[in-house]
Amino acid sequence: MKNGKKIVDVETKNKDTNVSLNKEGKIVEVTASDKSSAKTKRIIAVILWVLAIACEVVAVLNIFGKLELPKLSQMAWLIILIVVDLIFVVCGSMLWKKANHIDPASEKNKTKFWLWNNLGSIVSVVAFLPLIIIIFTNKDLDGKTKKVAGIVAIVALLIGGIASYDFNPVSSEQLEAARQEILANGNYDKNDKGEPVVYWLEHSKKYHINKDCSAINRSNTSDEIKRGTIDAAYEHGLTEPCRICIKKIEKAQVTEDIGD
Ligand SMILES: [Zn+2]
Repeated sequence: MKNGKKIVDVETKNKDTNVSLNKEGKIVEVTASDKSSAKTKRIIAVILWVLAIACEVVAVLNIFGKLELPKLSQMAWLIILIVVDLIFVVCGSMLWKKANHIDPASEKNKTKFWLWNNLGSIVSVVAFLPLIIIIFTNKDLDGKTKKVAGIVAIVALLIGGIASYDFNPVSSEQLEAARQEILANGNYDKNDKGEPVVYWLEHSKKYHINKDCSAINRSNTSDEIKRGTIDAAYEHGLTEPCRICIKKIEKAQVTEDIGD
């Protein structure tokens, strides 16, 4: 170890519990979520999306004069409904994206893969676009309400669409290839269940196969090193191996071949 940061392996007592190891360094065991939790997250996401569309329906009924809403002005109600609609859309999409990183879809069918990963963005269009059209085309709405509610709805559509988009989608094939890559090098660390583990720092985008990697030990940004299976790394958005680690493995393999 180069600069005195020491990593000591510990047994996890609880999920996501920080365990202090020694004065110099800290390692945190990160457990991958159970695949069944992905299903629960997806179900809750769909319920939230249905509630979002219900908000839109209430707003549309109100505009058409089929549903009177008490106390506040029509404009205030429309804005409230649009904001609540947006909250439901975004919360649903966050859960949906999280589920797709725990239990990734296959990318064999590219279109299906894209639609599945970005379902939240599609829901966002469904939850706002019809309302926007109705607001701007309805003749009974007064000019000011039309303008304000219309703009709020357009902004909500944009926020919802972008927030729901998965900019870093993961496929089941990609995850499997990463698992195989770790296994192939043969020189990996294991957790107490015997599963191969990788290491990463809190805000990094890459995971390390070797805990003594200079890229981890050089970094001053965090004293805490996270350790988990490749599934746990993927779940937390780390989908790329560190190049230094990969190079080191390749080099070791070449030396091994020559040695034989
Ligand atoms: Zn590395």
